[in-house]
Amino acid sequence: MIIMKFGGTSVGSKERILNVANIAKKYYAENKIVVIVSAMSGVTDKLIELFQKFKSHDYFGANQIIKTLYNIHKLALDDISIDRLFGELILYLTLCKNFTLANYDYVISYGEKLSSHLLSATLNNIGAKSIPVDASLAIVTDSCFGNGRVILDRTSVKAISSLSPLLSQNIIPVITGFFGATKDGQIVTLGRGGSDYSATILANALDANEVILWKEVDGIFSGDPNKDPSVKFYSKLSYDEALALAQAGAKILHPEAMIPVQAKNIIVRVKNTFNPDHPGTQIWK
Ligand code: ASP
Ligand code: MG
Repeated sequence: MIIMKFGGTSVGSKERILNVANIAKKYYAENKIVVIVSAMSGVTDKLIELFQKFKSHDYFGANQIIKTLYNIHKLALDDISIDRLFGELILYLTLCKNFTLANYDYVISYGEKLSSHLLSATLNNIGAKSIPVDASLAIVTDSCFGNGRVILDRTSVKAISSLSPLLSQNIIPVITGFFGATKDGQIVTLGRGGSDYSATILANALDANEVILWKEVDGIFSGDPNKDPSVKFYSKLSYDEALALAQAGAKILHPEAMIPVQAKNIIVRVKNTFNPDHPGTQIWK
């Protein structure tokens, strides 16, 4: 079983979503796969802004953001599920009273709720069976809103019971990255860039053979290859080296993401959706 996560830029437009669906379909021909998806690029930031606009009663500003977000998603997929999700989100914000951190997490989870529908529908359109899955059905967290930590044993039980029936029918679950839910079902986000963490948690929970973190660069470099052409490329890293890079602030990895895979020695690859034949960076013991 392979867990693959696609980052926001990789699903940033209709064409890009089709590109990643084709990548996933290739792996699906020979493996059981579970897909984790980030929000389309820029969407989480816009949802944060939307929350602030409602909180400050700036409904004119809020309306502008809703229009922008709606158009981005409708252009990527003209499907009724998008209208339904926008309807839910607007109703929730309209009824929101205190604008707590729990409300904030709920609102910003919509980027991934939307993108999981986009990618799943695209997979079905190209002949791979798929359904979108809300991570609150699989990932159990503590109640540290905004920066939740996962409760692994509970997650294992929940993830196996919700996902194995799909996998045994050859259906690709496209799971929302970035959040889980408390045992009472309240949505909790995992910190910015948290979809990597979602992927490695599910790899641990489902005893996957491998995790592929699909990004927009060939793998992990010692710096930003777009700014400094002399940076070093790492074809292999240990978990500890990857962790050290993440903790030193390398934006390429979420700081918690190595923990669940290291615990079970699961291989992680960082690969480029725009250059999928490049071997990428392998992270292992
Ligand atoms: N969409 C979330 C963020 O922008 C999570 C992620 O991209 O991994 O932080
Ligand atoms: Mg993002």
